[in-house]
Amino acid sequence: MAEDPRDWEIETRAVRGGLMRTEHGEISEALFLNQSFAYESAQAADERFAGGPGFIYQRFGNPTTQMFEDRLALLEGAEACKATASGMAAVQLSLMGLVRAGDHIVAGRALFGSCRWILSEWMPRFGVETTYVDATDIEAWKNAVRPNTRCFLVESPANPLLEVTAIGAVAEVAHAAGAKLVVDNVFATPIFQRPLALGADVVVYSATKHIDGQGRVLGGAILGDAQLLTDAYKDMHRHTGPALSPFNAWVLLKGLETLELRVRRQTETCGKVADAIAAHSKTKKIVYPGRPDHPQAAIVANQMTGGGSVVAFDLGSREAAWRFLDALEIFDISNNLGDAKSMATHPCTTTHRSMPEAERLEIGLTEGWVRMSVGLEGAGDLVRDVSRALDAA
Ligand SMILES: *Cc1c(COP(=O)(O)O)cnc(C)c1O
Repeated sequence: MAEDPRDWEIETRAVRGGLMRTEHGEISEALFLNQSFAYESAQAADERFAGGPGFIYQRFGNPTTQMFEDRLALLEGAEACKATASGMAAVQLSLMGLVRAGDHIVAGRALFGSCRWILSEWMPRFGVETTYVDATDIEAWKNAVRPNTRCFLVESPANPLLEVTAIGAVAEVAHAAGAKLVVDNVFATPIFQRPLALGADVVVYSATKHIDGQGRVLGGAILGDAQLLTDAYKDMHRHTGPALSPFNAWVLLKGLETLELRVRRQTETCGKVADAIAAHSKTKKIVYPGRPDHPQAAIVANQMTGGGSVVAFDLGSREAAWRFLDALEIFDISNNLGDAKSMATHPCTTTHRSMPEAERLEIGLTEGWVRMSVGLEGAGDLVRDVSRALDAA
């Protein structure tokens, strides 16, 4: 009997999962820059359009894109995966596929800026309303449920202050209400958290972050069980056109090979950087899911196997935060995360500037906060860079 790739260790799935070789036996996965495919006969075309195996058109599927989808599904422990052109295409599709006019969504209030725009500005145009809740408060999720609630959305850890939500408990509330739970798992990555195993119905990724991890391409993915992906998303994905380009799929496929190595090293280094920040007298507060002083440390211990590569801390004022950023020599000032290059950003004036101040205060985001994404440089150099910049703050 052939080995079932689902039984492989994660490192093996990352390198060999989904591999589809041509007759040439190429070692590195082939890049199929192909829009369409020819059929051997009219009957063969008929069979393929009827749903038989094989490819039809790049918007529906492509061999390179499928290798990426199959490999990511294996890493996530998901039955099925659909790749998208960006993380936002994945989030938008994951929500739109579950609701129709008159339906209601409940979402954690700390969300990536564009996700909030979709819920607050875009979905209402189609008659879909959202209630935001404090994602750490299970009663708040329960109280927000209406008879027409179809979908829950949560990001955990959340951007930018790394709040962690008990995914299993929220899934129970969603299911009792007849709703599906969508989890944006970008900050945890499939290496440290498996929302489907915790009870979520759908997982979304921006593959732009750790999965590429080298600052090159955009991409995204939706994962879940095969039936749900077919029922909720397949036709929408085919006909509205958010397909991932095969070139980007190839870059991301190669990214998956080293994801585990990169994310573990970045996390190890992030822990050291976080400890240096916590120990410095200029730091008012620090939030890092890998530290025992994280506000939801017990939940982290329950559902995550690593703290991740992002740390947030409060220097008390915008002036101090900006002095810190401007004094960094190795870290770039940039809003991305998950990259091999370390980056730091001031969320209030960049990623979260369009969020009204009252909403920012609700999630505790004041002007002194800095968010850092730790990359693959040497831990000693990064700790020195951060310590020097903190002295200057
Ligand atoms: C970056 C990000 C997105 C959006 O992904 P893009 O690839 O930039 O479209 C969505 N959610 C989270 C948590 C992100 O960090």
